[in-house]
Amino acid sequence: MTFSNLKLIKPLVLALEKKGYAEPTPIQEQSIPHILEGRDIFGCAQTGTGKTAAFALPILQLLEAKKTTVAQKSIKALILAPTRELAIQISDNFTAYGKNLGLAHTTVFGGVSQNLQVKDLKRGVDILIATPGRLLDLMQQGFIKLNAIEYFVLDEADRMLDMGFINDIKKVIAKLPAKKQTLFFSATAAPDIMKLANTLLKNPVSVSVNPVSSTATLVSQSVYYVKKENKRALLNYILKNSKIEHALVFTRTKRGADKVAKDLNSNGIKAEAIHGNKSQGARERALKGFKNRTIRVLVATDIASRGIDVDKLSHVINYELPEQAETYVHRIGRTGRAGSTGIALSFCTQDEMPYLKDISKLIKKNIEIISKHPFS
Ligand code: AMP
Repeated sequence: MTFSNLKLIKPLVLALEKKGYAEPTPIQEQSIPHILEGRDIFGCAQTGTGKTAAFALPILQLLEAKKTTVAQKSIKALILAPTRELAIQISDNFTAYGKNLGLAHTTVFGGVSQNLQVKDLKRGVDILIATPGRLLDLMQQGFIKLNAIEYFVLDEADRMLDMGFINDIKKVIAKLPAKKQTLFFSATAAPDIMKLANTLLKNPVSVSVNPVSSTATLVSQSVYYVKKENKRALLNYILKNSKIEHALVFTRTKRGADKVAKDLNSNGIKAEAIHGNKSQGARERALKGFKNRTIRVLVATDIASRGIDVDKLSHVINYELPEQAETYVHRIGRTGRAGSTGIALSFCTQDEMPYLKDISKLIKKNIEIISKHPFS
C-alpha cells in the first residue's frame, strides 16, 4: 500500500516522501479513504499510531480542492487537542504535510500572551488547532468565529475528559454549524467517550488500531525491584553503565520530576524536567533540547508528557509506576513508535507492587524482572 493508492494528491505525496514515510500506517490506511469520501470517523487509536496524519492529510486535501472557490479566508477546519504540547505537534504536522499547498493554519493555546495568536487569526487561516480554554477565550473576545467550520477534529477525547474539559468541549460544539464532518479520536472506547461520540457523529465509520492494552508488543519491558531510597542511585547507575543515549523518565509528581532532574545534573547527566508548573517557554525549550539531543534525559509527569512525540526515542524509564495501568501503556507508547522498537524500564518498590500487578493484568503478560543490580 502506498500513499498514492489512498488517492492522496501529488503535493501531499511529495511532502510525505520528504518526511521519509515509506507507506501509510494502519490507522492512515483505514481512515483516509473514508475521510476523503466525507464520512465521520470514530478512531480508536493512541499517539504513536500515525493518527495525526490520518486526519491532517485528508483535511488538507479536501480544503485544497475548495481553495479556489472561497475568496475570503475563514476557519474551515478546527482541531481540538487537550494540551499545548499536542496542539503544537499537530501544527508541526500540518506545516510539514501542507508545505506544497497554499493553506494557512495557526495554533492557539493558553499559558502565553494571546497577541501573536490574535495577529495570526486576523491575517486569516483555513485551519485552526486549539486547546479548549484559549479557544473559548478568543471566541468570547470575538477573535474566532466557528460558523464556517466544515471539518471538526476532536483529538485524544479520552484525555480531554480525564482533564475535565467536557463542559468546554460542549460549549465549543454548540457553536459549530450542524452540517460538518467530524473526526473523533480516542485511545479508549469507555462509556463516557461513546456517549460524547454519539452526540457528535453521524453514521460514523469506526476504525481501531492498537487498543491500549496491546501496544506493548513492540516495546521490550523489564522491572527492577528497588527500595524507594535507592531509586536515585539506581537511575544514575543505569544511565552511567549503559548505552542509553536518550531517555524519557516518568515521575508521579512535579516535585519528584524536579528532584530527579536536579540529581541527574549534579551527577553530570544533562537532564531537564517538564511539568505543569513550568512556563510554556521552559517546557518548549526542554522539549527542543531533548529532541535535538542536547539534553539526554527528560523527566516528565504524565500530563506534561501526553502527546510528546520524539522521533526514535529508545528508552522510557518509569521512575515511579503510575497508579493507573493505562497510564503505563501510554507512557511506554512514547517509545517503539511507528514500527521502531523501544525499551521500557520500570522501578518498583514494595508499595508499588499492586500497580505492577494491575499493569501485568492489562497488558496480559508478566514483565521481566531484572534481579541482578547493585540496589536489589
Ligand atoms: P502520531 O500518532 O500522529 O503522533 O504519529 C507518531 C509518529 O509517527 C510521528 O513521529 C509521525 O511523524 C510518525 N508517522 C506518522 N505516519 C507515519 C508513516 N506513514 N510512516 C512513518 N512514520 C509515520
